[in-house]
Amino acid sequence: MSDAKNGNRERLSSRNAGSELITGAHGYVPEDGLTAQQLINNPYTLGGLTYNDFLILPGFIDFVPEEVECKSPLTKKISLNAPLVSSPMDTVTEARMAITMALMGGIGIVHHNCTPEYQANEVRTVKKYKQGFIMDPVVCTPKATVQDLRAIKEERGFGGVPVTDTGRIGGKLLGIVTSRDIDYLDEGAANPVTEVMTPADKLITGTQDMSLDDCNQLMQDERKGKLPIVNDAFELVALISRSDVKKSRDFPLASKDALGQLLVGAAIGTRPDDRDRVRTLAEAGVDVIVIDSSQGNSVFQIDMIKFIKSTFPDVQVIAGNVVTAAQAKNLIDAGADGLRIGMGSGSICITQEVMAVGRAQATAVYKVCEYARRFGVPCIADGGIQNVGHIIKALALGASAVMMGSLLAGTSEAPGEYFFQDGVRLKKYRGMGSLSRSRYFSGKKSVRVAQGVTGTVVDKGSVLKFIPYLTTGIKHGCQDIGVRSLVDLRAAMYAGDIRFEGRTASAQMEGGVHGLHSFEKRLF
Ligand code: GDP
Ligand code: GDP
Ligand code: 5GP
Repeated sequence: MSDAKNGNRERLSSRNAGSELITGAHGYVPEDGLTAQQLINNPYTLGGLTYNDFLILPGFIDFVPEEVECKSPLTKKISLNAPLVSSPMDTVTEARMAITMALMGGIGIVHHNCTPEYQANEVRTVKKYKQGFIMDPVVCTPKATVQDLRAIKEERGFGGVPVTDTGRIGGKLLGIVTSRDIDYLDEGAANPVTEVMTPADKLITGTQDMSLDDCNQLMQDERKGKLPIVNDAFELVALISRSDVKKSRDFPLASKDALGQLLVGAAIGTRPDDRDRVRTLAEAGVDVIVIDSSQGNSVFQIDMIKFIKSTFPDVQVIAGNVVTAAQAKNLIDAGADGLRIGMGSGSICITQEVMAVGRAQATAVYKVCEYARRFGVPCIADGGIQNVGHIIKALALGASAVMMGSLLAGTSEAPGEYFFQDGVRLKKYRGMGSLSRSRYFSGKKSVRVAQGVTGTVVDKGSVLKFIPYLTTGIKHGCQDIGVRSLVDLRAAMYAGDIRFEGRTASAQMEGGVHGLHSFEKRLF
């Protein structure tokens, strides 16, 4: 055993100091638990393991959880401050989710169950995002009436609407109407907005080169609640609302590119016309493309990776999905910058049941990561993450990041409206291979075989609160294990210093809440 490893083992074991087993200066502590390799390759375990089938043994703590460094690579060239990715599903990730994930240090992958233009527009919205600036405000034409503005207020909940000649952002700014301008009019009033708006010559406006602080100061000095931002031609480019500036907060962990714009990913398929989609997404500024396939080891995918790497060398490519080293090899050889691991482990997924193909997720994660690390290719554990403990386990088995669908589908940033069922506030959550979705279906005439289901998930509130809960949980997990960073976690795992143990069915029951008449489970 090397000195460094010896030292580490000694540190991990020093909680036993004082035990009767001490026989020498350094004490003797019997070997305990299994290495990850022994856990996964255990000949006595009949099959693959899931996250629930094992636990990690505690190590030695000499630091506080806040010190744990969660920075981790997503691809060869992109690192995240929080190892969290939102899944490319139409009930999980569009611009709003992607913006919030990136602000919190993770990243969102925009789904592709839509036209390339729609998807590229979502990507553009993320890239254009500037904190505090509404880059795509609701705007009206000079022909709009007070009634139209009341309808906007009713539907969208805000009353500040700029008026431009085209009725769109980018048009010449003619004026602005705010709640105050229409509040005192009769219920039935239908005056044209031009009669009630503050016209251009009386407007206080900001310019593109102004910082958020400058804009805020201007609004404060002029006592305005809204500040339209215009370019040299007096065309509207953004809107600022004082209510946002007042509650604005810092996002020190935000995932950004070299220009300071938020990072965003987008998913594609492997059909010939997906090459055009890649072009459209690259033009919109996408940072990473995820090739979305349940069985990624195909000639279609290899060709697509080569096409993207040769045509858009600046775009990072995450290939997959894979669950074996043999699958991973082909995609790594083709030039993949990252891999996505999982087949059939997703909460809405019926691939294993229908196709009889797949792998238990913990085994898949270990096997693929252990292979891919030799080539410096980071891996995302995708599917089956039900709680923060599963995230820690995925990271402890070698994953650099985790991808979540069901865990994020109930948040307010996920697409879709909440509704009540049996008194519970829910959102829809759909497998992308369910019959209502297009993923996995080939040729128009072919018989369709669903690989996913349609369901609902419970309201989780905002990602702004949920992600900090997850990252804090990860830090506490690392502290218990005795590692100060995710880099150390992987290194110590491969060095055999992190010890694992299988969990019998009764151990799993013991590890859950039990023996109570009733209980309330609030997580954060
Ligand atoms: P108002 O005074 O009635 O316009 O509402 P507030 O300014 O108090 O709040 C409006 C909220 O809606 C802010 O958080 C805005 O960021 C948000 N918002 C989102 N999209 C738009 C938009 O297109 N226009 C406006 N005015 N606000 C928007
Ligand atoms: P509130 O959201 O209803 O409180 O509206 P504001 O505080 O934004 O605006 C108050 C009044 O100032 C309204 O009559 C606006 O039309 C007018 N106003 C004049 N110049 C400006 C300007 O540059 N921006 C905005 N937002 N309102 C202006
Ligand atoms: P979850 O986090 O809900 O457990 O799993 C989300 C993952 O399930 C997605 O990232 C994706 O890989 C996978 N997935 C999404 N839709 C389907 C589907 O319809 N069928 C299958 N087999 N997998 C799906």
